[in-house]
Amino acid sequence: QIKKRFEEKVKEVNLENEIQIVSTGCFGLCEEGPIVIVYPEGSFYSRMTIDRVDEIVDEHLVKGRIVKKYLYEDGSKDDKLKSLGEVDFYKKQLRVALRNCGVIDPENINEYIARDGYMALGKVLTEMTPEEVIKLVKDSGLKGRGGAGFSTGMKWSFAAPNKADQKYVICNADEGDPGAFMDRSVLEGDPHAVLEAMAIAGYAIGATKGFIYVRAEYPIAVHRLEIAIGQAKELGLLGKNIFGSGFDFDLEIRLGAGAFVCGEETALMQSIEGKRGMSRNKPPFPANKGLWGKPTIINNVETLANIPQIINNGADWFRSFGTEKSAGTKVFALGGKINNTGLVEVPMGTTLREVIYDIGGGCPNGKAFKAVQTGGPSGGCLTADHLDTPIDYDNLIALGSMMGSGGMIVMDEDNCMVDIARFFLDFTVDESCGKCTPCREGTKRMLEILDKITEGKATMEDLDKLESLARNIKETSLCGLGQTAPNPVLSTMKYFRDEYEAHVKDHR
Ligand code: SF4
Repeated sequence: QIKKRFEEKVKEVNLENEIQIVSTGCFGLCEEGPIVIVYPEGSFYSRMTIDRVDEIVDEHLVKGRIVKKYLYEDGSKDDKLKSLGEVDFYKKQLRVALRNCGVIDPENINEYIARDGYMALGKVLTEMTPEEVIKLVKDSGLKGRGGAGFSTGMKWSFAAPNKADQKYVICNADEGDPGAFMDRSVLEGDPHAVLEAMAIAGYAIGATKGFIYVRAEYPIAVHRLEIAIGQAKELGLLGKNIFGSGFDFDLEIRLGAGAFVCGEETALMQSIEGKRGMSRNKPPFPANKGLWGKPTIINNVETLANIPQIINNGADWFRSFGTEKSAGTKVFALGGKINNTGLVEVPMGTTLREVIYDIGGGCPNGKAFKAVQTGGPSGGCLTADHLDTPIDYDNLIALGSMMGSGGMIVMDEDNCMVDIARFFLDFTVDESCGKCTPCREGTKRMLEILDKITEGKATMEDLDKLESLARNIKETSLCGLGQTAPNPVLSTMKYFRDEYEAHVKDHR
């Protein structure tokens, strides 16, 4: 409606040939949406409403006077003009995977091409061998952004030498963590980056067919992907004989039906094959025996979004951000008790404090920060003592949490940590595929104990039982879902044991 009013008003003042009105993907600062940015000034109008449109057109677009009262203010001087680069929320961010989100019209392939889109695909097809592509991705240090953090180049190198009449590339866009919307934003804001990367991966491993497995709950992402695939095919950037190189690569979308376990790669492949989504043992690994028994690589959306820029700018460029062991940037979805709810991309090694306070603006209403859950339902809760921890894969695991796909949910002094652990466990109990006993039965028993605790009926012995059950489930479950499901309970028991004990009958 806001866009429509802009279009009408711009026509009324006869500027329709001079002003271009573009819908983009997400700018990241969800808290302040809807956002309108006027270029070339970069004036950042936030919390836009229809009734502000006429004034902005009359004043800013016609008379060249920025309407200060509607500009985003982030607590600095009241009358200070806010352009995008001045906004605190963006100052510490580095947008690599999100580079085009909020900048280009995702439904117009020309805007992607104007920002060097499909240049990396052209480069690999005309100047590089598949081995050189894999080496470059390996050298960049890029690790999977979907949770496990495995080297992307290594994964590709496992699939490449396998001989088969058909190989596959899969994009895992089944983002199921509560509070996570990183992949959704990339797909909605920059779908071509994912398509280009998948074609590059196909060339590297010798696959001619790709699938994007995306949640049906993301209709805008699906719609934009469909448009993007259609446009790329029309320009010969997907399909037969791309760039006249003799390389063919075709893509299809498959919709997930909302099962969290289908984000696990073996369950995801079962689902694409039309079977019930259930995990299986590994090995065999998908790189050897994946979709329909053929060599397959599965990469997450954010991982793929980095690929074209690594090809264009080189491994050293990518390694120049982040830490020695965790190169590049990471996108986080900031939610919970935080002032600036939104999507954030920072170099690896940025501290939790910088993300939560400098970018996130701290907890609302002056409340004290209590904990942050990283890694979604499979992650753990970290405390104020961990705020100066540089965020990377190893540090988070060492503290009993994980990077996961990048959900970050902040809790303040009012949150009960037992309730938080119970909430996440309830989610995983619901989402367990039921194939293996520790996860199917064990998480239910854990939930029963947690219920007892929250109802004030548990004893100290129950706490010990809960902890030992959690450790057993971690060690004996078949797939990542069960292996990580106890993390929220274990980390809150470790860092907030007093809260558990306060609920217990025989607590002294
Ligand atoms: Fe299924 Fe859970 Fe076992 Fe994974 S750990 S196979 S989700 S029952």
